[in-house]
Amino acid sequence: MSKPVVAIVGRPNVGKSTIFNRLAGERIAIVEDKPGVTRDRIYSSCEWLNYSFNIIDTGGIEIDSEDKILSQVRIQAEFAIDEADVIIFMVDGKTGLTEVDKEIANYLYKTNKPVVLAVNKIDNIKMHQEIYDFYALGFGEPYPISGAHGTGIGDLLDAVVAHFPKDDNDSYDEDVIRVALIGRPNVGKSSLVNAILGEERVIVSDIAGTTRDAVNTYFSTDEQDYVLVDTAGMRKKGKVYETTEKYSVLRALKAIDNSDVVLVVIDGKEGIIEQDKRIAGYAHEAGKASIFIVNKWDIVEKDDKTMHQFVQKIRDEFQFMTYAPILFVSAKTRQRIHQILPKVNEVAEAHAMRVTTSVLNDVISDAIAINPPPSDKGRRLKINYATQVAVKPPVFAVFVNDPELMHFSYERYLENKIRASFNFDGTPVKIVVRKKN
Ligand code: GDP
Ligand code: GDP
Repeated sequence: MSKPVVAIVGRPNVGKSTIFNRLAGERIAIVEDKPGVTRDRIYSSCEWLNYSFNIIDTGGIEIDSEDKILSQVRIQAEFAIDEADVIIFMVDGKTGLTEVDKEIANYLYKTNKPVVLAVNKIDNIKMHQEIYDFYALGFGEPYPISGAHGTGIGDLLDAVVAHFPKDDNDSYDEDVIRVALIGRPNVGKSSLVNAILGEERVIVSDIAGTTRDAVNTYFSTDEQDYVLVDTAGMRKKGKVYETTEKYSVLRALKAIDNSDVVLVVIDGKEGIIEQDKRIAGYAHEAGKASIFIVNKWDIVEKDDKTMHQFVQKIRDEFQFMTYAPILFVSAKTRQRIHQILPKVNEVAEAHAMRVTTSVLNDVISDAIAINPPPSDKGRRLKINYATQVAVKPPVFAVFVNDPELMHFSYERYLENKIRASFNFDGTPVKIVVRKKN
């Protein structure tokens, strides 16, 4: 299921990051070592009523240029228009309407995405009258809010979620595997997409062009249907915001949220960079299946040890994802491209696999017999039983006498035993510990 994306747009100092921080649930840090990037938390999940969505503070991205503010707000608006489902246009009720606000409004008129106008810094009832000037922007009723006091935010969010697509357009058939290719610019994502779609047995569906969904590409083989998430992002190259790494990261995070299987593309020639780790870490946290695709293998100088060394490097750098298989490919020469889809099928199957409670408990009993749970201050952890409570990713609930007695290392031991007994290659596996005597 794809999560709606809400972007906050507005000139500097209106209070975007203040509001973002109030709304933000789990956050992911996106740090870039270029100068001018002030905020590292600009993408976050958010829950309101029964809605779950992602929120982006577009103001967290600063771009150095002469006409700094104007080019910045233009790029922010462009990004929001392309990527968001709903745009929160934020203005400052204390300063009143400004030329830059009007400029942003001009960009936003070009979209048919819903825009909700928020007037921030309305810190008390007396200030309510300040909102009326903003009707002139032409986005309907302005919502008074105060980031300082947290007021008005509920009404604002009601207005935002009311614009979410009613029927979930992105809910594909359960059997369709949603695949995202992620990686920094120039690793070869577009080339890989073309190589995969050019495989002999692959039939690209033309519904992609005719439906509302120009973002994704549908295709199938004899065995399986797939959706490549955000292939439009790859075609639409050349947008100004694409050149800012943070925006490509934001787009990648969105693609990960909308996928089942993430192909983490690494440039075999350039090696692994910090941003690769952040993005892969996000895929892991989000509970997605993953495969490492080392591309451009054709131009890597190699001997009989190179591949093995690269595997070691990936295992060292991505210690939290030792479950993810690694493929060495070349989009250019098509070397091993034909192995990608079968691997996708394999990890997707693991991601969706359900094991029976009886077999699982046999595995757990054996694990306990070989290596009994530790005791803490004379009290011993007693594991009563375990059951799988979710798929995509697989989640196992382990019922114990006292969850406090469960150590991280023993949990890891149980996970390893589960992995050794079932094929969960490619998918994270989660264990939750619950009390039950
Ligand atoms: P951004 O540049 O749009 O992200 O703005 P910030 O969130 O950094 O806020 C700019 C300034 O406005 C900061 O000094 C905030 O403390 C202040 N601010 C934010 N929200 C409010 C508010 O509701 N009332 C008042 N009085 N000040 C606020
Ligand atoms: P993207 O930005 O990740 O979509 O990367 P592109 O697919 O646009 O590729 C960036 C550059 O790398 C282009 O010049 C491609 O021709 C080149 N490239 C992509 N894959 C390979 C490969 O497997 N081998 C070689 N030698 N070059 C590649």
